[in-house]
Amino acid sequence: MVGAGPVGLLLAALLQSLEGFSVRLYEKRHEYTRTRMVQLAPYLVADSVDSYRADHIDGDNVDAVFDPAELDEGLAFRRALPPDLTALLHDWTLGFCPLNSIERAVSDLIDARASNGVERTAAVVTAEDAMAMLEPGDVLIDCTGSKSLLRDHLAPGSGEVDGDANTLKIRLEYALVITFLYGQLYDCNESCKYFKNAENEHYKFIPAVHRTHYDGSVSHVSGIVNISAEEYEAMPSRFDGAWLRDNFPSVAQSMDRFIDKIKEETHGEILGELEIVRIPLDLYRARNATSRQWLTAGPSDHPFASSPVFLAGDSAIGSPYFQSISLGFECAMYLAGLIAQRELPPRDMLDRYELYSYKQWLRVYMRSKMIKHNKDLFESIDEPLALLDKLHIY
Ligand SMILES: Cc1cc2nc3c(=O)[nH]c(=O)nc-3n(C[C@H](O)[C@H](O)[C@H](O)COP(=O)(O)OP(=O)(O)OC[C@H]3O[C@@H](n4cnc5c(N)ncnc54)[C@H](O)[C@@H]3O)c2cc1C
Repeated sequence: MVGAGPVGLLLAALLQSLEGFSVRLYEKRHEYTRTRMVQLAPYLVADSVDSYRADHIDGDNVDAVFDPAELDEGLAFRRALPPDLTALLHDWTLGFCPLNSIERAVSDLIDARASNGVERTAAVVTAEDAMAMLEPGDVLIDCTGSKSLLRDHLAPGSGEVDGDANTLKIRLEYALVITFLYGQLYDCNESCKYFKNAENEHYKFIPAVHRTHYDGSVSHVSGIVNISAEEYEAMPSRFDGAWLRDNFPSVAQSMDRFIDKIKEETHGEILGELEIVRIPLDLYRARNATSRQWLTAGPSDHPFASSPVFLAGDSAIGSPYFQSISLGFECAMYLAGLIAQRELPPRDMLDRYELYSYKQWLRVYMRSKMIKHNKDLFESIDEPLALLDKLHIY
């Protein structure tokens, strides 16, 4: 396995608990330092189909995309997870938590387990290294994130064409993600989003609000403000509230108005500083998430023609709106379940993973497009003509 971010670590911990496997896990970072707060979906710890499909945007999509037997299989796998991992998943789904606390917790869990079976190496692995290391009977899993190490090597001839041939990418919008901790329990539904934006004609601050996983009385607010491509280009990748007020006062005003209204209503204070990043919100998937094409192309001495290769996490699928890790965890659990079935021929394993990751992609694609559409309508909610322009009723 290459890449020990959240998804690589979870997958390593899942494979570690299977009989008869040894895992070699390569990671280039020496320390887990990413403090950004992330949210995991409650469906990760669902114990019934109803709770798995409880999200009101996602519920029907889940029914449309997955067969009942698939949903049951996923729930059965979840129920059989080692208790140490289940406890961590329950903890993380309580609210926003720092990315590095997820990474450290799984990393420590792997190191602390009595029957270890995971050999960890700190190294930057190249695609050539990964190919050279492969031996008969090995499975190679790329968990190296959005700039995947192997995504462009998964089909014969792919090295000779444009870099992104194996990636389907849809840019939904450019956004500022403005995050802060707030020292009071605070919740926000759709009318709260509307009324707190009443004077924000152009830039709307759309918050995702949830408690933090470690303290129910601290709220984590992560607001998204839509910006233009030109504004995106003119901003550094990361900055604070003061920089925004000096350089983009109208965007800052929308943020400050919203925060003032939260304070007026709940009499709390912001804990620490505002953190702002500007990011493109992209939906993407690897057209091939496995080395299946190498297998079907017939005999070859390329290492991927004889050893199954899988992409997991952001290397396979990327989505905005706080969904990616949960999606990566879902695919990781499914992949661990496939690898555990030792009698399964490699061809079936590759086909089934392709189909499953495609279904997860469809699900996140539909959910993300719906969120984006709702956001677009919300931006024009007080202008009936502009609103009608964005509606496609038939
Ligand atoms: C501002 C922001 C907020 C976000 N909020 C959320 C959220 O609330 N919820 C959510 O689900 N997601 C969120 N995300 C997305 C989330 O952080 C990613 O989906 C997640 O980190 C992907 O996990 P991963 O393990 O697939 O990849 P990564 O986290 O990218 O990990 C990849 C690992 O591979 C290692 N690596 C890479 N190349 C090599 C190599 N050649 N050799 C060795 N090691 C290598 C890297 O060092 C890294 O440790 C957010 C992202 C951003 C930018």
